[in-house]
Amino acid sequence: MSTKKIIVALDGHSSCGKSTFAKAIAARLGYIFIDTGAMYRAVTLYALEHGAIRSGMVDEQAVEAMLDQINIDFRFNAQRGASDIYVNGDLVEGKIRTIEVSNCVSAISSIAAVRQKLVAMQQEMGVRKGVVMDGRDIGTVVFPEAELKIYMTADPKVRAERRYAELQAKGDSVTFEEVYANVVSRDEADMTRAISPLRRAEDAILLDNTQMSVEEQMAWFMERYNDIISR
Ligand code: C5P
Repeated sequence: MSTKKIIVALDGHSSCGKSTFAKAIAARLGYIFIDTGAMYRAVTLYALEHGAIRSGMVDEQAVEAMLDQINIDFRFNAQRGASDIYVNGDLVEGKIRTIEVSNCVSAISSIAAVRQKLVAMQQEMGVRKGVVMDGRDIGTVVFPEAELKIYMTADPKVRAERRYAELQAKGDSVTFEEVYANVVSRDEADMTRAISPLRRAEDAILLDNTQMSVEEQMAWFMERYNDIISR
């Protein structure tokens, strides 16, 4: 096997299975998987718990003022085969995927100071390559020089159905309509924000997984990966 290591940038719409796919790729290649959405979610959770979001309204100045108090780190969890996210030493992995956090995260991720802090952390984490990073701006802003860029999407109804099943399995009492509305509004907010909007990088390969299994996606990926690694 080649010792050459690259950066895999995985961007795309909400809830299209980017993290699941990124985690599987990282396991297959022996790479580190970094879920950047979890970082924006962790800041959102902190803002919710510290009074910077009230009745869904984000106080941007309060968020900016608390950024220095938010220390994010990832610790590998062998049982899950992926890293858990911690804020100031507290495990928050189980708390960041609620509909409440999902409904506020796009407002938090559109704040320039938040992006500046998290992008710098992400660039540091990828400095030695051998990483699979998923998010919205990885191929455009965080690592524009990434060797392999993928832009993922799927039909919004199918994405909402997948996310709804996941939340139901966790015992969340959310409705399908709420999940669908969140998926559609997050896409809209992420694609139209002023700073680092979600868009397909010119050199990103499109992957629409509406009708693809995880195995089919992996076969699709490995073909492209092997092509790049053998150059
Ligand atoms: O990937 P996930 O759906 O968990 O991301 C949550 C939110 O974080 C996105 O809707 C987006 O607003 C924000 N995000 C971002 N840039 C990234 C990753 C996530 O703005 N690189």
